[in-house]
Amino acid sequence: MSDSKKMDIEQIRADFPILHQQVNGKPLVYLDNGATTQKPQVVIDALANYYRTTNSNVHRGAHTLSDQATQMFEDARITMQKFLNAEKSEEIIWTRGTTESINLVAQTWVRSNLKVGDEIIISGMEHHSNIVPWQMVCEQTGAVLKVIPVLDDGSLDYDGYLKLLNDKTKFVAVVHVSNALGTLNPVEDIIREAHKVGAKTLIDGAQAVAHWDVDVQALDCDFYAFSGHKLFGPTGLGVLYGKEALLNAMPPYQGGGEMILHVSFEKTTYNVLPYKFEAGTPNIAGAIAMAAAIDYLNSLDRVALAKHEDALLARANELAAQADGIRLIGTSKNKASVFSFLIDGTHPHDVGTLLDQQGIAVRTGHHCAMPVMEQFDIPGTVRASFTFYNTLEEVDALFKAIEKVKMFLL
Ligand SMILES: *Cc1c(COP(=O)(O)O)cnc(C)c1O
Repeated sequence: MSDSKKMDIEQIRADFPILHQQVNGKPLVYLDNGATTQKPQVVIDALANYYRTTNSNVHRGAHTLSDQATQMFEDARITMQKFLNAEKSEEIIWTRGTTESINLVAQTWVRSNLKVGDEIIISGMEHHSNIVPWQMVCEQTGAVLKVIPVLDDGSLDYDGYLKLLNDKTKFVAVVHVSNALGTLNPVEDIIREAHKVGAKTLIDGAQAVAHWDVDVQALDCDFYAFSGHKLFGPTGLGVLYGKEALLNAMPPYQGGGEMILHVSFEKTTYNVLPYKFEAGTPNIAGAIAMAAAIDYLNSLDRVALAKHEDALLARANELAAQADGIRLIGTSKNKASVFSFLIDGTHPHDVGTLLDQQGIAVRTGHHCAMPVMEQFDIPGTVRASFTFYNTLEEVDALFKAIEKVKMFLL
């Protein structure tokens, strides 16, 4: 094995079987990676092989397959720990996804530590799953939700954030990369300033992990949440990273098997980390397949691929500037390869349908971020979200198709 990592896009595309098909009689151009990413063959194989050869329940084994499944499941946790550079594997909690990870923190650390008048800060560009759990816990505790404004280019009003911070601020939950706008937020600074007033922090990393390496120790975040399915892994499997001391001090989230050491009707003692937060049979196959996805990512030159993604976005911006009637939503200097736009005089849904007829998969609508759509006074956008297996030719195909859509609709 040489230590050269893969960065040839055609070679990488060959690893993703789903990409090589026709949709509506046209070659599939998959530009909906912000909604979910496709899976390389090694992930599909890991899932199938587990069920074919090893399927058993974990941590219960009096038999060989159960021991093997437990070993693979716990090895997957270590793979994830290293991927995030967490200090300990006990700090990696398997969840169902970003949504469950955020709800877990809201209903444990936040619910048990906040009282009437305390403040939680989120931003104006959050996904609904980083809004609603905080509204719910505010209702339960009497805490107050504060929202960092978003500027016209889709970047965060950082001075506005600093103004919101005070000694009542107990928790700050902000998205790393906006799924609707692509904005990359200065989370390191956000976390540092939150810590200065004694607040804890959660970063919604659902859109960030697929683009760049994330180092939770360097960020110094208290919690970090994301979904496997947006990171080339399976659906139904997510991650919550939390600092060990906080996780240890938190009450459990759900009750049941796995999360206990001893149960009697008088008193139940909870299990140690990470099992305290993993009630019931976990998504064993999902975690094992997720580890295969991480191994795959580790075989790629991710720095070069991030540059390739920048080039895809730059090409889209260039072609948009040459075309008539395209309004970009989210033009922050620092952004991931998310390209949200409107075509003057058309509705995003109609555009999406006509693009699909030409084999091009995009997302249309509010992207589970209604408040930020309201701020821009639009019902939604058309969103092309690129990842490393997309090509410059696919960006060109998108714009050729957009011209056809315009001829049809305008
Ligand atoms: C997709 C997404 C979520 C929710 O992820 P689920 O997998 O649906 O739980 C949360 N935040 C952001 C920024 C997202 O893109």
